[in-house]
Amino acid sequence: MNILVLNCGSSSLKFQIIDTDSDKIRNNDDRELAKGLIEKVGSQDAMLSFKSTVKSDDPTSTNIYKITKPLADHTEALNCVIDWLNLPSTTIEGVSKLSDIHAIGHRTVHGAEHFKNSVLINEDVIKELEHNVELAPLHNPANILGIKAATAVFGTNTPQVGIFDTAFHSTMPQYAYMYGIPYEYYTNYKIRKYGFHGTSHRYIAMRYRAMQGKTVEETNIISLHLGNGGSITAIKNGKSLDTTMGFTPLEGLLMGTRSGDIDPTILEFIMKKEHKSIEEVVNILNKRSGILGISGISNDMRDIEDGIAEGNTRAILAQDIYCYRIKKYIGSYIAAMNGTDAICFTAGVGENDITVRQRVCEDLEFLGLEFDAEANRNCIRGEETLISKPSSRIKVYVIPTNEELMLARDTYCIVSNNPITE
Ligand code: ADP
Repeated sequence: MNILVLNCGSSSLKFQIIDTDSDKIRNNDDRELAKGLIEKVGSQDAMLSFKSTVKSDDPTSTNIYKITKPLADHTEALNCVIDWLNLPSTTIEGVSKLSDIHAIGHRTVHGAEHFKNSVLINEDVIKELEHNVELAPLHNPANILGIKAATAVFGTNTPQVGIFDTAFHSTMPQYAYMYGIPYEYYTNYKIRKYGFHGTSHRYIAMRYRAMQGKTVEETNIISLHLGNGGSITAIKNGKSLDTTMGFTPLEGLLMGTRSGDIDPTILEFIMKKEHKSIEEVVNILNKRSGILGISGISNDMRDIEDGIAEGNTRAILAQDIYCYRIKKYIGSYIAAMNGTDAICFTAGVGENDITVRQRVCEDLEFLGLEFDAEANRNCIRGEETLISKPSSRIKVYVIPTNEELMLARDTYCIVSNNPITE
């Protein structure tokens, strides 16, 4: 079944077309047929970059397409994807017209307490998403636009599925997700920890299980999704026990531009000192803090490492804080879980940054973690790799994440009434 996976941000649209079905899921040989990214949706110079991943023997076909053009909204953006599919020069195996797309899966950020699993999208689901907009004002409106754009382009006969970043964390016990504030704020306004990156953490747990031949019940790992945003999840018996992001993605680790954990009275203090509104201060915590705020250089760990090589003390400090906080959370989760079998690194920094992995894992022999510095250095990009010594009681892995694959599989399972892969 050909699934179009859509990930709509406020000004972007990412897509993949993935061919999957029960056999492919069982054998882990789902096929990525095409993928693309549109940035700056809503501007005069939106940037489109599409690629079909299955090469053709036809010399006139091209599998790479890059242009810049004005795009008013997500419907226009999605129409560009469809136009590209229809171009005679585009070769995507098994996909030459709209009806070759059998279902659509949407990455949806906030499912609140309502959506504990992926769901078939209907009017009621859209209403519930609209209801949740106040919980995710930056993300859910874009996801809703994506659903409406897909309905406008594909009509109502192509099924659409919503897959929620928060769903995997719906198993957190109440003592882990509650904040220490008056209880009625939870009952009246649903203020609690929700957690994010759930699809990625679920994928990591699934791959770990597949590599180790373990059951869901036997899956006790700490999953480190370290990208521009970052979160750590304690996965006990295959379920999310706790995670570092909270009511919003602002809580927890130091991130590219987000502060992570902070004493909330600092907000009032900054407001008074800098004569700023609460919205402005929250915006600073989301967009101008973290690695960018500390280093003053960049939110990108590659630039920080260049800065460190040049002896930039604030770049050094940014990496110190970043690694220290990850290590601190690992320690607290090992205690919360009564021990862990593995620590798994994923996402941009987790998959690529040798130094961060080394710094996070070093000097933990007292916990039974024997890091293999050489395996870490030799880790090949895109490959699942063990980076602890064979004798290490706690194993350390690099597992490249694949959220799109989970979106495609969930979409297939919902549309064909198969049980969802845990
Ligand atoms: P997002 O969180 O936006 O989905 P990614 O998971 O792709 O992003 O992570 C992006 C981040 O990964 C970049 O901001 C950068 O800090 C980091 N990164 C990417 N490649 C490398 C690399 N080779 N070395 C260190 N960090 C990297």
